[in-house]
Amino acid sequence: MCKKPKILLIYTGGTIGMIKDSETGSLHNFNFNDLLEYIPELNLLDCFISTHSFKSPIDSSNMKPMHWVKIATIIEENYQKYDGFVILHGSDTMSYTASALSFMFENLSKPVIFTGSQLPIGDLRTDAKENLITSIQIASLCKNGEPIIKEVGLYFEYKLYRANRTTKINAEHFEAFDSLNYPPLIISGVKLSVNHQALLKPNSEKKLIVRKNLESNILLVKMFPGIEEATINHLFSFSDLKGLVLETYGSGNITNEKWFVKAITKLIERGIPIINVTQCSGGSVDMDIYRTNIQYRKLGIISGKDITTESALAKLMYLLGQNISANKFKTTYETSLRGEMK
Ligand code: ASP
Repeated sequence: MCKKPKILLIYTGGTIGMIKDSETGSLHNFNFNDLLEYIPELNLLDCFISTHSFKSPIDSSNMKPMHWVKIATIIEENYQKYDGFVILHGSDTMSYTASALSFMFENLSKPVIFTGSQLPIGDLRTDAKENLITSIQIASLCKNGEPIIKEVGLYFEYKLYRANRTTKINAEHFEAFDSLNYPPLIISGVKLSVNHQALLKPNSEKKLIVRKNLESNILLVKMFPGIEEATINHLFSFSDLKGLVLETYGSGNITNEKWFVKAITKLIERGIPIINVTQCSGGSVDMDIYRTNIQYRKLGIISGKDITTESALAKLMYLLGQNISANKFKTTYETSLRGEMK
């Protein structure tokens, strides 16, 4: 690599690939093969760009594990032919897809950069051009014949983040994403300033393994004051339930009312892993701080530490799909696999 990198651009859907109909004002997808017509600047980049578009691009609110597998397969099939990959994706669920892919790719040693935009590419004030052009430049970065980024990243509004650390935080601002528990990997100013210390440094000798088995019979429950016993019992009694992510208060605090402890105990007895993540956007779960929590730690609730909810769900789906033995599940989950937690 390095001479003139080959980048594969994969379009899955979302605002970035849309233009406004001048008569009706409504948004529709443009033919992705005509990309150069909308962004002629792409011709100036020092790399070869090929494109691949979903036959029927989708709004990211319709994304599901089946589509994650589809994206992973396109990358897998083209992994040797290209030096980097840029995925254009709707911003709404981009953090979920990008987190899932980060787990699905074991030993990834090339850049996979997700991006999108808040305004369509054809809009005069669009953020799509900068997001796309810089993402391609980032995917092309290399040093001593090796790519600089060897992980799944998410680029939006002048920052490249580790994808599995991101959350969509704003529906209107161009700065739509944040990564509250991990610093940006690159800040784009006059130059691209790379935070080398923050990058993942995988062993590039190892062969890429793409894990496509994901278990989606899981549940996300956000605790709130007044949540009813009957509601919880109803949700937890789902017979096919394989895992639970519990969004708790502050540093992972959970009510210690008897009925709730009982409901959790029953799940644990059924062998269902429960992940404790905080509702706060920044900071970490620490189940040792308050006495109310110690019983939950003893019961075997798994600490999500400083993971995002998006990443916690993706990691749970991924690990449940890997047939990990029950006694190893907790330690494996509490270990950082792709830099998603401390
Ligand atoms: N609804 C769109 C989507 O996520 C929004 C966007 O592209 O930013 O697909």
